[in-house]
Amino acid sequence: MLKLMRSPLKYVQGQGALLHVYEETKNLGKSFLFICSNSGFKSCHEKIEKSFEGTDATIHFEIFGGISSIGEVERMRAIVKEKNIECVAAIGGGSAIDTAKATAHYENLPVLVIPTVVATDAPCTGLSVIYHNDGSFSNYIFYPKNPDAVIVDSDIIANAPAKFLVAGMGDALGTYFEARACEKAKAPSLENGGITKSAMALCKLCYDTLLEDGYKALKACENKVVTPALEAIIEANTYLSGVGADNGGLAVSHSVYNGFTALKECESTMHGSVVAFGTLAQLVIEDAPEEEFYEVMEFCTSVGLPVTLEELGVTDKDRVRIAAENACAEGESIHNMIGDVTPEQLYNALIVADALGREFLNQ
Ligand SMILES: [Zn+2]
Repeated sequence: MLKLMRSPLKYVQGQGALLHVYEETKNLGKSFLFICSNSGFKSCHEKIEKSFEGTDATIHFEIFGGISSIGEVERMRAIVKEKNIECVAAIGGGSAIDTAKATAHYENLPVLVIPTVVATDAPCTGLSVIYHNDGSFSNYIFYPKNPDAVIVDSDIIANAPAKFLVAGMGDALGTYFEARACEKAKAPSLENGGITKSAMALCKLCYDTLLEDGYKALKACENKVVTPALEAIIEANTYLSGVGADNGGLAVSHSVYNGFTALKECESTMHGSVVAFGTLAQLVIEDAPEEEFYEVMEFCTSVGLPVTLEELGVTDKDRVRIAAENACAEGESIHNMIGDVTPEQLYNALIVADALGREFLNQ
């Protein structure tokens, strides 16, 4: 297998970054369609309009329907054609981003991503999750390239609810451990390539940054201020975690997410929360050193990520068994683990992770 490394062409981050959108993206085209979430439009449009003032580029903002559905992508493609759009941009969370990526891909245009929360890996990766118009899962689209530009304004992130930052840290927590497992098993990355040393270095830096700055960043975000620690976590959640997962691969943590979200009691549990608990389960399966396991658990509790099943919304062991079965479905990334994992082994690991988590909380 050939080694492979992919990333966004350009990554820009800092306070007031939105005032530089035109400057940083003027090579991408002369007419921009911004696909916005409701709140993304409110918090970002003035700064972006300001950055385009006095230029010959045109901009159009469009509020999208809330999910990255086949119908929404079609609606956006019609706007692209009608307005002769040359660059598609996203302003918002994962769904706005996935809609913009898909629209740009089908229209063969560059894509710019402006995340307003740092809750998932969506901004920097080269794939989208697409839903049917009724909200049920349809398919993943894997693109030949990652976004052309990602611009994160730290002021916007500091003013977003802290629960998104925490969820993003949960998603970022899986990155190093999942990549390490893939590397050990010589499993492919998300981009279906061999894992480079560069990817592993980013994944390790992602984990180290969480331990160093996670708690401090949470305090900054709760108080709606930007500090160096918050800047470090924005980068960890967005770039290190996204590029790390893309090129490092996924294993148990993300399959646990897929397993639990199929349960209706977990529908509202955030992606990163389940990924964090899935990481604890992975460490049990790997029989990781006690020191490492408790380092991860300590981190989770310090920032408010779940360490028990109850915190995920599950209390019935039969439901855990169903989640374990779901997580081990064919094609799941859990099969990247060395020696593979059966539903029974995963169930056992989930039960033990939960027991250790409950004990830890009661200390
Ligand atoms: Zn994820």
